Order: sequence, then C-alpha cells, then structure tokens
Amino acid sequence: MLRFHNTLTRKKEEFKPLISNEVKMYSCGPTVYNYAHIGNFRSFIFVDLLRRYLKYKGFKLNHVMNITDVDDKTIRDSLKDGKSLQEFTQHYTAEFLSDLKTLNVEIPEVMPKATDHIPEMVELIKTLKEKGNAYERNGTTYFSISSFKDYGKLANLDTENLKKNADGRLNSSDEYEKDDARDFALWKPWEESDGDVFWETDIGKGRPGWHIECSAMSTKYLGETFDIHTGGVDLVFPHHTNEIAQSECAHCKTFVNYWLHNEHLFVNGEKMSKSAGNFFTLRDLLEKGYSPMAIRYQFIASHYRQQLNFTEDALKQIPQTLQRFYDFIDKLESLSAGEENSNVSDLITVAKKGFEESMDDDLNISGALAAIFDFMREINKLMSENKIGKSNAKDVLHLMNEFNQVLGVFDHEKGEIAEEVEALIEQRQEARKNKDFAAADKIRDDLKEKGIILEDTKDGVKWKKIN
Ligand SMILES: [Zn+2]
Repeated sequence: MLRFHNTLTRKKEEFKPLISNEVKMYSCGPTVYNYAHIGNFRSFIFVDLLRRYLKYKGFKLNHVMNITDVDDKTIRDSLKDGKSLQEFTQHYTAEFLSDLKTLNVEIPEVMPKATDHIPEMVELIKTLKEKGNAYERNGTTYFSISSFKDYGKLANLDTENLKKNADGRLNSSDEYEKDDARDFALWKPWEESDGDVFWETDIGKGRPGWHIECSAMSTKYLGETFDIHTGGVDLVFPHHTNEIAQSECAHCKTFVNYWLHNEHLFVNGEKMSKSAGNFFTLRDLLEKGYSPMAIRYQFIASHYRQQLNFTEDALKQIPQTLQRFYDFIDKLESLSAGEENSNVSDLITVAKKGFEESMDDDLNISGALAAIFDFMREINKLMSENKIGKSNAKDVLHLMNEFNQVLGVFDHEKGEIAEEVEALIEQRQEARKNKDFAAADKIRDDLKEKGIILEDTKDGVKWKKIN
C-alpha cells in the first residue's frame, strides 16, 4: 500500500488518486533570474524520485512544473543586464533544463511559463473579486484573508496571531491601504521601475503576483482538484497557503488532496548563503570535479522529509558507492558460464519486495537502498562461487534496471560516454587490423588517461570506467 506524509493532515495516508491509475501532480518550479542552487535541486530531485516511483508503480503521470518568468527579481535583474525580460528569462530557463538533464532528472510533462498565462490569472482574479474574496486599492488587487475561514490550515496557523504579527510588522506606507495587514497582492499596478514589463487587462495595467500564477496554471492543466502538490517546506507559508485560499475560494472545491514537502538543505551544517561562502550552484560543484551522479546520489540517499546536510567530504565518498553498482553490473554482463541456480529467483523476489515495501512507506529510501545492497551482496557471493548462470545473470540485470528506473544513478554516466568509447574502440580495432599498432596503442592510452580501461577478452573488447 502506497502511503505519503500529507502536510495538510500531518499524517501518513494511503495514496488514492482521483482516477485510479493516473496521477495529476503540480510542483512549484524555479524563478528564472539566475542559476539554480543546490538547495533548489534538492526539491527537484525529490520530485524526480517521486515521479519515477509513481511510474514504477504503474501510474500514468500528468506532472506540471511552472516557470516563474515574471516577478520582482526577474524584472530587476533583466533591467540590470540591459536585456528584455523574455531574453533574460529564456537564458536561465534553458540553463535550468540543461542542469536537470545533467542530474538525470526527468522533464515534467508540462512546463508552463507564467507570462504565457496572464489571461488565465486575470480571469481567476476577476472571479475572486466577484465572489467578494478580493478587492482593489490604488491599482493593486488584494486577496481578502478574512473572507476565507480555512486560511492557514496547511501551515497550521493561528490566524489571530498571524494578524497581530502582520500588524506589528507594518512599516511601509502602502501596507496601510490594505483592509487587513495579512492580505496579499493578486495583481500589482505598473510602476516606473517595471520598465516595459506590464499587461493591459480588465483589472488594470500591471502584472500578476506570484501566488496567483500557480493557482491559475495548475487548474488549467490539472483541473480544479488534483492529487499531489509538491514544494520545499519554505513554500508552505505563505505561498502554498495562499494558493489554497485563491483556488478554494474561486472553485468552492478542495484544491489538492496530498501536499508533499521536502525539508531544507544545509551546507556544512549551516544555512546556505552567499555571505557564508557555502553557496553552490550545480556548475560550481561540477567545476570542482564532482560528478553529477554523485551529487544526485547524495540528494536521493537521504529521506526527503529529513534535513540534508550537504558536505564535500560526504560527496567525495560517493563515487566508491557508485563504483560498487558499476562493478556489479559489469560482472554480471561479462559473466562466463556458471551453473544456473534456482535460489536466484527467490533472492530477486525478496529484494523487489524489500525495495517496494520501503518505497511505498513515504519513499523510505534508506530501506530501499538496504534491500538493493543486501541483494548485491548475496549475488556477489554466488558469483564468486561460480553459482550463477547466464540466465540468472539476465534476471538480476533486469531487476537492477528496474531499480535504476526509480533511482536513475547506476549507468547514466556510462551510457553517456559509451557512444564515444565504443567509437574509439572500433577505430582501435581497425588500426590493429591494418597493423598500425602505434595508432591502436595511442587510442588505448588516451582512453586510459580519461579513466577508461580496455580489456581484450575472447568475446571482444570490454571497457570499464575507473575513478
Ligand atoms: Zn507555486
């Protein structure tokens, strides 16, 4: 039975999608004003593990992740760069997608941009106004928090306290124009500092607030009620709290059935910040020579609801772990005939069950990895005793491949360099055939320098990557 911890109820609940074999899921995506940092990638890799496991369980997936390409930061920094908002955000969107690919993160089915959905946001704001949940002051349209009695249920907020705090925080003059200090902006009027970024609409010339974007786009692609909404814990309040308020007031329906939030990432035990010198983008770590799969593995291997302390010391250990997977798979692939063993299918059953029971329990990754390592240990033992046949090996490889569809860490790098290496091996064979041994040796040495070792076997040339 698949169960997830639901932030809304603070309990693990059995997962039952609205349509029995389909999952409709929304994840808050990046604001594209800079390169994403590793704290962001923790969220996106958690979502990747979730979507891969849902697919493994046989669900058809409709997964939406928005791109926030208009807000204070994108406007401010595009002006600073002297670029149009579109040109500026397109660049960072492309970089973001390229980073996802590097980390072997699957691209969601739909990735809508906020600026492509202004009419949908305006419609939603108009509905909220008609229903008495929103009001306008000096060009700004605000959501009226007192109009929604369930406000704050996701974050378990005491709304009276929230009101007092908000009143206490009042400092800028424009805050006083709101009916209630807690109210938040749905639509902001154009100001000179916005440059040429504005939309002329029925609710005025201006641009949308951030929260309305996710309510409008999730409804467009997933419907008024959908199954799963994800994000980092820092989004529970106010962002997700406000999404619920907007959507439930507009549609009079439950917005989302399961809310899944991943915990923060710390670096060397501290909150990541540029001033503390522990702020990393993906490219910072790649430049230091860490492999994308090691980074992915470090994120995946700790449970999403636990705080993750990212350290370079831990990252340095991971290639050894990955090498155990690679060696295991290499050994199975190059296995010469041994006796077929009927115990192997039992080991496969046990491993699969252990993996699934753990993952079903709110993606308990430690349990799932333990099931895989136990299985590898048993199979390695049988291989060393020559008690595994070719057909056994095929079954084991099939299972490892299934696990890897969820984890996405075993053979990605090998796959990426495989084409290049295979082509060079072919050139080397050609050179040898022509008795050009100097050229053949050079290819071998060049590969060795890149950490690729060739072995001439009776079944042809085999290669492996060493670290
Ligand atoms: Zn969002």
